[in-house]
Amino acid sequence: MLDYSKMLNKTVCGIKPSGIRKFFDMLSTMDDVVALTVGQPDFITPWHIREAAIESIEKGKTYYTSNAGTPELRLEISKYMKRRFNLDYQPKDEIFVTVGGSEAIDVAMRAILAPGDEVILPQPAFVCYEPIALMQGAKVVHINTKLENKFKVTAEEIKAAITPKTKMLILPFPNNPTGAILTREELEDIARVIKGTNICVLSDEIYAELTYGMNHVSIAEIDGMWERTIIASGFAKAYAMTGWRLGYVCAPAPLVKEMLKIHQYAIMCASTASQFAAVEAMQNGDEDVEYMRAEYNRRRVFLLEGLRKIGIECFEAEGAFYLYPNIGKFGLTSEEFADRLLYEHRCAIVPGTAFGESGEGFARISYAYSLKHLAQALERIEAFVKKLKDNK
Ligand code: PMP
Repeated sequence: MLDYSKMLNKTVCGIKPSGIRKFFDMLSTMDDVVALTVGQPDFITPWHIREAAIESIEKGKTYYTSNAGTPELRLEISKYMKRRFNLDYQPKDEIFVTVGGSEAIDVAMRAILAPGDEVILPQPAFVCYEPIALMQGAKVVHINTKLENKFKVTAEEIKAAITPKTKMLILPFPNNPTGAILTREELEDIARVIKGTNICVLSDEIYAELTYGMNHVSIAEIDGMWERTIIASGFAKAYAMTGWRLGYVCAPAPLVKEMLKIHQYAIMCASTASQFAAVEAMQNGDEDVEYMRAEYNRRRVFLLEGLRKIGIECFEAEGAFYLYPNIGKFGLTSEEFADRLLYEHRCAIVPGTAFGESGEGFARISYAYSLKHLAQALERIEAFVKKLKDNK
C-alpha cells in the first residue's frame, strides 16, 4: 500500500477544507431543510446575457482567447471602472480576465507573497485568503474586526499589525460574511497608514455593486493608492453569474505582467463563451443589477427585522447579501447552534467560525433567497430560539 502522506505536499495536507463546504455536505444528506447557506444569487443570469453566450457558440466562437481575455471585454471592464469609480485602467496591460474572482485573488496573492512574508487579513473573512497565503509559505496576521466598530478594520489596527515583513494588506469589503463596508473617509485613514510603505493592497471588490444606502468606494480611488492596489472582482454576484466562472484583475502594469505569467501557465484563458456573455452584461446589464440590488435590499430589511423580533441581535449590514447575527447569548458555540438548528429544526445557516476564530458567537445568514423562503426560515429559527429560552 502506498503511503500517500509521503507523496503529498505537507503544506497542502495541513490545510483544512472550507467550513462552508462541511455544511453543504451535511445538507445534501437531509430532506426538508430550509437552507440559508449559499453565497450565490437565487436569480438566473438575465436572458440577454445568456443569449450573448449562446450566440457566440452558435457562431462557432469556440477558440482560446488571448491569455488576458478578449480585447472587447477588457475594454468594457476599463469603461466600467471609469464610469463607476473614476478609475483609469488601460485595457492593454492593466486588466486581465480570470476564472472567477477566486482566480483573481489566487493569482494576486501568488504574485506578491513568498515564504516568510506577512499578509494582514481582517477577520472574519471569506474562506480562500488564508489557505492561499499558507500555500505560499506566508504568515497570516489577523485583525479581528469588532461588532462595536461595525466590523470595519481601522487604520490604527492596521498600523499596529504592520512589521518589516508585511507585504500585503487584504481589504475584503463589502465583506462576506459580515456585510460591513468601508466609507471614503475610512479608506483615506487606511491610505495614510499604507502610503510610504511597500505594502500591496489586495482589494476584493466582488460585492461592489451590492451596497445599500451608499455607493461602494474603491481604495484605488484614494490619492496615492492606485499604484499599490490590486483590485480583484468578478461577475458572479452582481450579474448572477456564479456558474460562468468569470472575474478580473485591475492593477498597475508591472504587477499585471507578473500575475499574467501565473494565469498563463495555470489557466491559459477564461472561458470564451463566458467572456462574450460578460461583454453583454457590462454593456446592457445595469438595469438587471439595479433590479436585483433592490430585491436584496428588501430581503435584507425583512430578515433583519425578523431576527430582531425573535430577539436575535444583528448588526445592520450595508453590503453583500449576508447578515451576521450575534447568537452568543444562547449559551451554545456557533457550531452547536448551527448544528442543532439544522438537526432539530431543519434550517441551515453557517457558523461564524467557518470564517475565522473571531466568528465565535456569530452566524452567517445569506439572504440571496426569496422572501417566502426567508419567512419559512425565520419561523424555524424562532421555534429553536424559543426552545433554548424555555430550557434555560
Ligand atoms: N470574494 C468573496 C468575498 C466571495 O464571497 C466570493 C464568492 N463567495 C469570491 C470572492 C469568489 O467569487 P467567484 O465566484 O467569482 O470566484
